[in-house]
Amino acid sequence: MHYLFLGEENSFLLFLFNYFLTFLNKISFTIFPLNKIKNVDEIFKLLKKELDKYEIPVINRAKKDIDDTPFNTLISCVLSLRTKDEVTEKASLRLLKKYNTPEKLLTLSEGEIESLIYPVGFYKTKAKRLREISKSLIENYSSEVPKDFDELLKLKGVGRKTANIVMVYGHKKTGYIPIDTHCHRIPNRLGWIKTKTPEETEVVLKKILPEQYWDDFNDMFVTFGQKICVPISPFCSKCPIEHHCKKINVKRSR
Ligand code: SF4
Repeated sequence: MHYLFLGEENSFLLFLFNYFLTFLNKISFTIFPLNKIKNVDEIFKLLKKELDKYEIPVINRAKKDIDDTPFNTLISCVLSLRTKDEVTEKASLRLLKKYNTPEKLLTLSEGEIESLIYPVGFYKTKAKRLREISKSLIENYSSEVPKDFDELLKLKGVGRKTANIVMVYGHKKTGYIPIDTHCHRIPNRLGWIKTKTPEETEVVLKKILPEQYWDDFNDMFVTFGQKICVPISPFCSKCPIEHHCKKINVKRSR
């Protein structure tokens, strides 16, 4: 399952589903403990060396030009769902250079937000969500972005990926792994895990990936998934960790 912005709207059902999934995983890990990833130190060393050549993902890149605050991280992340990085980056800058608090953002009408964030995916729905999120932050959280993961999930349009990103990049907390489509696909290709959803990947990775790599995991695997281990026909011939990869379900490569 990919993260669909519209799918994140029903946060209560998603919350129940995630709770159930976590419970199931807890039981199964107790009965069948998982093995840690083999050669993980070497893999991360090789990846880091390769990825130093490329630009960092958009959620962090936009922060060069806008204030590095939890609110800006949250709004940029909502804008980024189902949207290309370069489009998200420009839309975040147009909106957050000036409207960088819940109060300031609420001075804008839905139509004005739409004009500022267009052409991000689902820009009309997102404009509505951004106003709802800002209103909820003011009314329920004294205009602050909650530092509690489960409280973040209560905000409309905020799913596990967004909440994890806000915890890691907004609040600088450790102990979280944001999982997007790249972070889900690549560990499955490598043969580290065999999972069906990003939610399941998050739970299983936390069992097998040493905690020292959690903070860098999202940045590294998003960039790796955009540049080398791309969804269709990955560039295995120039992959620095090819000799560690089982290439599960890779039918065609370059
Ligand atoms: S060898 Fe290919 S499939 Fe495996 S991680 Fe590298 S690019 Fe991805």
